[in-house]
Amino acid sequence: MSKTDSLTDNEAAARLEWLATEIARHDAAYHRDDAPEISDAEYDLLRATNRALEKQFPHLIREDSPELAVGAAVSDAFTKVQHRQPMLSLGNAFAAEDVAEFDERVRRFLSLEPDAPLAYTAEPKIDGLALSLRYENGALVEAATRGDGRTGENVTANARTIANIPETLSGDAPELFEVRGEVYMSHADFAALNARAEAAGGKVFANPRNAAAGSLRQLDSGITASRPLRFFAYGWGDVSMVPGETQGDVLRSIGAWGLTINPAMALCDSPDALVAYHADIEAQRATLGYDIDGVVYKVDRLDYQRRLGTVSRAPRWAVAHKFPAEVATTVLDDIEIQVGRTGSLTPVAKLRPVTVGGVVVSNATLHNEDYIAGIGGDGEPIRGGIDLRVGDTVQVRRAGDVIPQVINVDLSQRPKDAKKFVFPDTCPQCGSAAVREEGEARRRCVGGMICPAQAVEALRHYVSRDAADIDGMGVKQVEAFWQDGWVREVADLYTLEANHGDALRSREGWGEKSATNLFAAIDARRTLPFARFLYGLGIRHVGRTTAAMLGRAYGSWQAFEAAMIALAAGDEEVRETLLGIDGVGGVLADTLASVFSEAVTVEHLDRLKAHVIVEDAEAIAEGGVFSGKTVVFTGTLEQTSRAEAKAKAESLGAKVAGSVSAKTDYVVAGAAAGSKLKKATALGVTVLSEDDWMRMADS
Ligand SMILES: [Zn+2]
Repeated sequence: MSKTDSLTDNEAAARLEWLATEIARHDAAYHRDDAPEISDAEYDLLRATNRALEKQFPHLIREDSPELAVGAAVSDAFTKVQHRQPMLSLGNAFAAEDVAEFDERVRRFLSLEPDAPLAYTAEPKIDGLALSLRYENGALVEAATRGDGRTGENVTANARTIANIPETLSGDAPELFEVRGEVYMSHADFAALNARAEAAGGKVFANPRNAAAGSLRQLDSGITASRPLRFFAYGWGDVSMVPGETQGDVLRSIGAWGLTINPAMALCDSPDALVAYHADIEAQRATLGYDIDGVVYKVDRLDYQRRLGTVSRAPRWAVAHKFPAEVATTVLDDIEIQVGRTGSLTPVAKLRPVTVGGVVVSNATLHNEDYIAGIGGDGEPIRGGIDLRVGDTVQVRRAGDVIPQVINVDLSQRPKDAKKFVFPDTCPQCGSAAVREEGEARRRCVGGMICPAQAVEALRHYVSRDAADIDGMGVKQVEAFWQDGWVREVADLYTLEANHGDALRSREGWGEKSATNLFAAIDARRTLPFARFLYGLGIRHVGRTTAAMLGRAYGSWQAFEAAMIALAAGDEEVRETLLGIDGVGGVLADTLASVFSEAVTVEHLDRLKAHVIVEDAEAIAEGGVFSGKTVVFTGTLEQTSRAEAKAKAESLGAKVAGSVSAKTDYVVAGAAAGSKLKKATALGVTVLSEDDWMRMADS
């Protein structure tokens, strides 16, 4: 917890105000929207900080203090269900001593001798959503959420869509039986759901529990049905008959009726055995495939459970043994900048090693420069708008296998000489400019091919189909040659045979033939069309169309490069000309200027051009047969690629469209042309065979 001794009244009041707003916001996000932004541990920390401050500054307690607010109300969207037996919560244990104390309490209450036999069931505590299923004469009649424990929400229609909740119980189920358990989503299903949501531009869920809660509390059960929810039974509520003498017996009966009970449930006969079970489950935590936040122990004998009863809405006969908190306090020793494969700069916190949730953490992501400055995604202040400085005492969070994050700063511990962090504007790997474009959270190194961090990606791009298109050079080969130091930049491809030919021919998995084929494929690309060459350089914002457009505008590589170097030197006239080209905007002009302002980049281009001849781009033909016409390609072209045909048509002044309409002038139909050809015929558009097209284009 943060040290608050040195706070003035003003500072404390400001913090309390921030905490009240922050906690209210997280309450709404959690309860109303099922979309929390922080972990439970972080939330608890905010609440604890607030309580500590209120205790120390009682005269500053606010009217809207989070401590005075009431708990989550049941949503009006669902009908209410009064639980006939309350859905209880569990007391918590955090350490082995707490477990021993729990055992002592139970023995004391039951007047058992310390060595009298006393068994407990132990099972993982699923981090999901509690659900009560009411079966009458073996048929599911009602499903309700926990709500506040007394009143829950009726989610029967939704629960019916969960695959492992049976509609009817098999075997000799009692007349009335309420099964209680947890609805959850597996890690794999959660990842797939979020991937689908992301692909569809939808909202992603923060964690599996919220995905499960958000899915179960849908007004449209059709949506719930599309979500892969599952259910583990762990107890019971209102029942006409209890089928057994122990917790374990009853759960096995519930399992026999067709519900799923946790296969990891075990019987333990001592506090030591419980603690060993806890350690065993914690070790399996990452591989269970679903989230758990601890294990639950229950006195096995039901006659004991009845005698023990409940105290303040928690049973005396059960306890939740939680896993260690996933938030810890440590010191931010340094901020390091990492460069990704595509050039984005990511700041990483170098932390004094600290154990968080049972794992030693010494690195944490800081996302981007705004995050360091205390600014969140929408310009909203995070951490109360407090920036991170090297030397700061910070709180670190780790949740499951998620990358650890720095979530809070303790200002009272900030060293006097701590300086605001200045985010570098050059790449730490290659020294090129690191540019932050408008609307982007991260800076990017413009070094591309010459940046070691981006080299493999740059090489892969250069050899790809739409660029140099070198057969036999895939990601695997690029990575292997890079590892060996044979190909560190694109120019090295063209000296591969001269420098490493013999080695490659005798290399395992290669042999004479494939090596010779590769060298031939490389040789075939010693001459490249302007657009392919420029596109192959992998400059940001220079896609195939832009590369072709720049080619048509400048004609020769020599003219283009000279213009770009002048642009980089600040030549306004060149910039005007560039911006005058249809489709060129300020962002592209800025990018080109920063790329060509790097001497290393220009030197690398010189090395590359020693091996590659860049063909002049074809200027747009005026008055040709395709000039100003709209052309559509369809079917499989056999003599050229679709990309090449498109470039050719554009060089002849045509506009290439993707679909046929009345405005289409020509449809070039390759093999197996389908609906577009049909439509063209129906609209009376001139249809050309691939041969017709080639002949007319070359004439
Ligand atoms: Zn770089």
